[in-house]
Amino acid sequence: ATDDRIARIASTIRVIPDFPKPGILFQDITTLLLDPKAFKDTIDLFVERYKDKNINVIAGIEARGFIFGPPIALAIGAKFVPMRKPKKLPGEVISEEYSLEYGTDIMEMHVGAVQPGENAVIVDDLIATGGTLNAAISLLGLNLNAGRVGVTVVECACVIELKELKGREKLGDNPLFVLVSET
Ligand code: AMP
Repeated sequence: ATDDRIARIASTIRVIPDFPKPGILFQDITTLLLDPKAFKDTIDLFVERYKDKNINVIAGIEARGFIFGPPIALAIGAKFVPMRKPKKLPGEVISEEYSLEYGTDIMEMHVGAVQPGENAVIVDDLIATGGTLNAAISLLGLNLNAGRVGVTVVECACVIELKELKGREKLGDNPLFVLVSET
C-alpha cells in the first residue's frame, strides 16, 4: 500500500543536526538511496502520479533533483531539463536570481530546453522556504525561446516538505506534491 511505502521512505531519511551550519536540521536523502526498495518506491510513487498526464518535461533542480528527476522522466517518457547553479551550463541560458536566508543565489536553464505548450513537473528533494522552487517556476514561465508563452508548470514534486517554513504558501497557485511532511 502507498502508506507502507511512505513510512519506509520516511524511515530511511537521516536527520543531521547543525549541518551545514548551527541550527539547521539537515534532511539527508543519501541514506534513502542506500535502500533500493525505498529508492524504487520513491520513484514509483512519483511515476504513478505523473504517468498518462501528458507531462513532457521533468525539470530537476541541482543537485538532488538530478537524482530523483531522471528516473521519473525515463519512466513517463518525458525529457529531463537541468536547472543549474550559475556558470555550469555551456549554452545560452536564462537566469533567475532568488533570495536565500543570507544573500541571494542564481538558477539557470538553457534557452530552448522547453517549448510553448509543454507541461512540466519540477522535481527537488526538499522544499523549505520555497524560494528555490519559486525561482524554477519563474524560469520555466519566462523561457523566451518558448515564444514568451512559457510552459505550464503542472506541479512541484519533492520527497520532503518542512511544513513549518510554509514554502507551500510561497508557491501561490502552483500545486505542490510531497511524499513526506516533516513538522
Ligand atoms: P528553499 O529554497 O528554502 O525551499 O530550500 C530548498 C533547497 O535547499 C532544496 O534544494 C534543498 O535540497 C535545500 N535544503 C533546504 N533546507 C534543507 C534541509 N533542512 N535539509 C536538506 N536540504 C535542505
